[in-house]
Amino acid sequence: MKLVTYLIAAVVALFGLMFIVGAQGQIMRLVVGVVLLGAAGVLIYLTRVQPKKEEITHVQKIDLTGDVRLEQMKCTSCGGALGKENLIVRAGAIFVDCPYCGASYQIEEAPKW
Ligand SMILES: [Zn+2]
Repeated sequence: MKLVTYLIAAVVALFGLMFIVGAQGQIMRLVVGVVLLGAAGVLIYLTRVQPKKEEITHVQKIDLTGDVRLEQMKCTSCGGALGKENLIVRAGAIFVDCPYCGASYQIEEAPKW
């Protein structure tokens, strides 16, 4: 894929140069040439700076024992509603990271809420 992009960029740049060289005082051709060169540059730039989509997604399965109803979970500090995304498993224990007040605490094994 990268090679194709480079080839396209090279062709575009070539056309840009041709326009500039063959402009012969015609501003429009000069502008088109510069724009083409710029486009080629952008193409190469985008190819080189392609974001690495190999983000290491750390999926942690949270298995809450018992009949835990997550929608009823509330932060013990501020009472804000907590969801599954606010639960983090650290060292085998379940922790809550409250997005509202920033509180971080461990949940008891048999929660009663
Ligand atoms: Zn809170």
